[in-house]
Amino acid sequence: MAEIAYPLFRSIKRGLAHRCPCCGKGGLFSRYLKVEPTCGSCGHSLTQYPADDGPAYVTILLTGHLIVAPMLLFPIVWEANPLYSVPLILTVLAVLMLLALPRVKGGWIGLMYALQVTDRNQRLHTADAAD
Ligand SMILES: [Zn+2]
Repeated sequence: MAEIAYPLFRSIKRGLAHRCPCCGKGGLFSRYLKVEPTCGSCGHSLTQYPADDGPAYVTILLTGHLIVAPMLLFPIVWEANPLYSVPLILTVLAVLMLLALPRVKGGWIGLMYALQVTDRNQRLHTADAAD
């Protein structure tokens, strides 16, 4: 189990804001989901933190539990013509997920920073340990 090396919520908050979790000043992404190799402000290596599938799983989990499940409670979803409601709902969900994914990835990298989980921590990569 990883131990918290740096303030957890501060690190996640900086990541959610697309900022370097170390200093909070430099940018975290160079493009939509491309992580900067090093922080432009403090020089901290940002690509060392694993963010493979975790942010996508968290985004799907959040979308499914916070949007899709409550949405099913509204009768209009069931009563509307699926020819119109399904494309509309899927478009809104796709936009929301595309907006949430970089923020979740930033928060994930902040979490990895706070726990000091890096690519070098082979014992924490359960998929690698199964091989
Ligand atoms: Zn920095």
